[in-house]
Amino acid sequence: MDQQLEACQKVVEMGREMLAINLTVGTWGNISCRVPGKDYVAITPSGMSYDALVPEDIVILGLSGIIISGTRKPSIELPLHLAIYNAREDVQAIVHTHSPYATAMAVARKEIPGAVEDMVQIVGGNVRVSEYALPGTELLAFNTLKALEGRNAVLLANHGMIGVGRNLDEAFRVCQVVEKSAQVVLFARLMGGAVELSEEDIEGMRNFYLKDYGQR
Ligand code: 13P
Ligand code: ZN
Repeated sequence: MDQQLEACQKVVEMGREMLAINLTVGTWGNISCRVPGKDYVAITPSGMSYDALVPEDIVILGLSGIIISGTRKPSIELPLHLAIYNAREDVQAIVHTHSPYATAMAVARKEIPGAVEDMVQIVGGNVRVSEYALPGTELLAFNTLKALEGRNAVLLANHGMIGVGRNLDEAFRVCQVVEKSAQVVLFARLMGGAVELSEEDIEGMRNFYLKDYGQR
């Protein structure tokens, strides 16, 4: 099948899933991926219901933001998505959610410490909070990229979170794991505090996840 159409279909599928498992409400959040073999990005349209999206609603753009195909207005967070793709060659897909526990941490402006094993494996360490900026701005793109350095997730102050990955399934899983970890850390703090893992153990688990985990 045409890789562009395939990317659009996968973005639509992930949007439905994001809504179904309460990683966002309403039309907030957004999703994108690179089109394999091309310098193109497929991104959700702005402010449309995920449960009504069809592949034709997805907008295809070049990495400079020029529209290649699609009639919808792209997500207002396009500058943020493009900034990440332009700076991070390892990133093939981006999922932005407004999930409750991650947003609670982002509102408190508290990072999620590297304290949960699945999170440090898939994220690569703690999840930092980016400096506040209004949604849809170049400043939000700049601040987010800075706080995302060397990680696959970042909290957006007073807003939500971003998960990135080597494909859409992984970026989506990052968002699920970060949401779960935010909840775990909040509960741990109710019981006296979260114990952080050592840098050495975090690095070891990250390498294990990248090289050995799962069926090879
Ligand atoms: P869009 O609907 O334009 O993607 O905006 C939603 C959002 O979450 C902005 O941060
Ligand atoms: Zn948002």
